[in-house]
Amino acid sequence: MIHFNKLVGQAEFLSPLKDFQPDSQPIEYREDPLLGLTSVVRTGRQFWGSLYKTDEALVQRMSDESRGWCFFCPEKATTATPRFLPGFIPEGRLQSGEAILFPNLFAQKEHSVICVMTDQHYLPLDAFAPALLSNAFKLSAEYIGRLYQAKAVKYAEIGSNYMFPAGASIVHPHLQVMCSDMACYLLREMVSRGRQYQEQHGRNFWEDLMETERQSRERYLGRIGDTEWFLPFAPTREDEVDAVVRGKSHFMELTEADWEALSDGLSRVLRYYGDKGLSSFNFAIYSGPLSVELPYFWMGLKIVSRTSVQPMPVNDVWYSNNILIDGFVTEPPEELAMDLKPYFS
Ligand SMILES: [Zn+2]
Repeated sequence: MIHFNKLVGQAEFLSPLKDFQPDSQPIEYREDPLLGLTSVVRTGRQFWGSLYKTDEALVQRMSDESRGWCFFCPEKATTATPRFLPGFIPEGRLQSGEAILFPNLFAQKEHSVICVMTDQHYLPLDAFAPALLSNAFKLSAEYIGRLYQAKAVKYAEIGSNYMFPAGASIVHPHLQVMCSDMACYLLREMVSRGRQYQEQHGRNFWEDLMETERQSRERYLGRIGDTEWFLPFAPTREDEVDAVVRGKSHFMELTEADWEALSDGLSRVLRYYGDKGLSSFNFAIYSGPLSVELPYFWMGLKIVSRTSVQPMPVNDVWYSNNILIDGFVTEPPEELAMDLKPYFS
């Protein structure tokens, strides 16, 4: 069984909101059971609630004003975006249905590409249909496979930033696919701690985590195909939902059914975010090294909400989570899970 470590305290003061009578707010210090990353869960005061409200008129204006110059809309994506070197991908860009994939004009890693997911310039969060997502994921996986064949690249990740509060400079829904020969810190830690757990307990950490979560029913959402969906005990950002792929450690092991299951779950979470009034998110699909199947590591996906589109938004990334890597959320995952469960039933 997995142990969930937390400390509980109270922040006490005389509140001007209650005529200076004593008031208190429960605070929980939580620790991620694998990584040891810390996170603070403040319950009882929904101050952050105002960050959820989307200015729909502003979204419409941003969408309308950017459509004319958008390089990801079909007419420009097929003519004005970068092309791959002919020795690698002779066709220049990869295409499948509405999805198109090409090198990022502003590379963040050695192999940095954009996958435009749809012809539509803007999508509300409830319009990210499973088929749209899985088509883009499969095209991204094709790119990763071709890069692996050509250059034996070691690591790959797929991520998305949606709308400007999440770091997107272009409204048009797109994925980032990045590959390199060096793993990021968090992935290295996950793989290393997964191996340590297996050595100590003789079992896979995520197998045990899922068994514990399924039994407690506090944060577990459900299983779709071979993917498991749950809320992390110590979330680092608001509305965080996690998924893992059972028994798979890297992208090249995923079947079409696995991509469809990930897309199905992701689409459900995005629909929940949209119903909550959110308009901006980040997600990342992480993978172990592409060259070897690791029995002690399961790859997965993490998605978080970001401050909604507003004229003058208060950013939800501040010194604590940005520099000290100490997470902070105002809604306990156990309460969020109750709202999310109907989307997974
Ligand atoms: Zn566009």
